[in-house]
Amino acid sequence: MLIITCPWCGARDESEFICGGPEKPPRPENASDLSDGDWIDYLIVSPNPTGWLAEKWWHANGCGRWFTLERHTVTHEVRPFSGDDVSGEAVSGEGKHASHP
Ligand SMILES: [Zn+2]
Repeated sequence: MLIITCPWCGARDESEFICGGPEKPPRPENASDLSDGDWIDYLIVSPNPTGWLAEKWWHANGCGRWFTLERHTVTHEVRPFSGDDVSGEAVSGEGKHASHP
């Protein structure tokens, strides 16, 4: 069971939240220059790394706000969103569990 820290409400049980899926990369500025395959990948393919993944979560049974956190897809360790592209980053073993700055 995950303990997820809402930036507004603090640490709460996972059952209060709904996962909105991976954070999508920014829309390509020159989309017309992409190949059809690259465009389809951007539209349809979701990141699925072995490692850290930025995800959107909705505190559905709490404040009702959306926020982004990072979850390790193997260990399910969670940490605050760093704002960096973390897809596939290996787990450090020193990450914070269910904490927020
Ligand atoms: Zn909340």
